[in-house]
Amino acid sequence: MPEGHSLHRLSRQFDDAFGGQTVRVSSPQGRFASDAARLDGHRLESSWAKGKQLFARFSNDLYLRVHLGLYGAVDFGGDEHFRGASSIGAPRRIGERELDDESTGEYAGPPAPVGQVRARFVTGHGWADLRGPSACEVLDWDQVNTQLAKLGPDPLVGTAVRFSQSKGRETDKDPSAELERGYLHFRRNLERTRTPIGIVLMNQALISGVGNIYRAEALFRSRVDPQLPANELSTRTAKRLWWDIVGLMEDGVRDGRIITTRQEDRDPTGPLWPENAYYVYQRQGLGCRRCNAKVSLAEVAGRKLYWCSRCQRPPRKRG
Ligand SMILES: [Zn+2]
Repeated sequence: MPEGHSLHRLSRQFDDAFGGQTVRVSSPQGRFASDAARLDGHRLESSWAKGKQLFARFSNDLYLRVHLGLYGAVDFGGDEHFRGASSIGAPRRIGERELDDESTGEYAGPPAPVGQVRARFVTGHGWADLRGPSACEVLDWDQVNTQLAKLGPDPLVGTAVRFSQSKGRETDKDPSAELERGYLHFRRNLERTRTPIGIVLMNQALISGVGNIYRAEALFRSRVDPQLPANELSTRTAKRLWWDIVGLMEDGVRDGRIITTRQEDRDPTGPLWPENAYYVYQRQGLGCRRCNAKVSLAEVAGRKLYWCSRCQRPPRKRG
């Protein structure tokens, strides 16, 4: 499943490609047809992400909400004026297609829909096709707020505000203050539960956008035992964990991929990605990059959890 950095990249791409423009919205597959008709022909004002969800505001005060889920993906295409490119989401065979008609070099409009296109967005210069999302619906502002309220603090709120400001919006917000507020919210959420921190980090209601890779890697980097009850994390550790996740995920938005290792912990002879990208994720049975103990793997709450039992020991009880 794409983690939060992918959704923030997607929302930026949506904003770059369609922001401020009148968009034709349709549902070639049909399942989104009646909702698509409510957005069709209206201007897309802005798009943003929270956690693993994409939202877009249209000029008629309606909003699009998309959750890619496990299988969702978006393909973009268009002419040389179109500020979208590439695909975001689950890798798929259809992948990226030729953007232009090769014979003339001119943009020939969107291609005939291939496969199950839930939603298609088209302007004079380009298009985007959404396939396989777990959610794609049109909401009013109250309904958007209901959805947003279900989501815990997003470590990418700072980078989201900075992007929005680059478009002349949300200029009254301070990205650092938003992140600090996010940390306090995260801390309160931890204090309220004895659920192991390894499970809490995957709970979108407690912190949004973190998926399996960031969960495993951040816990390793902060040397936190995934089984530690959330309310037993010290303030210092909770703070370190939040700000480390912020940094890792901001790097992910910038780079378009997840790399959590520090230079000194990589194998200098091997390629950086993916072989040297992670400390523990999908490295079960291999030697830990720090202590050489074998990396552990367990199924926890239906998802694979990776950790080093030597580096991530439970804290010693005091007294
Ligand atoms: Zn280790």
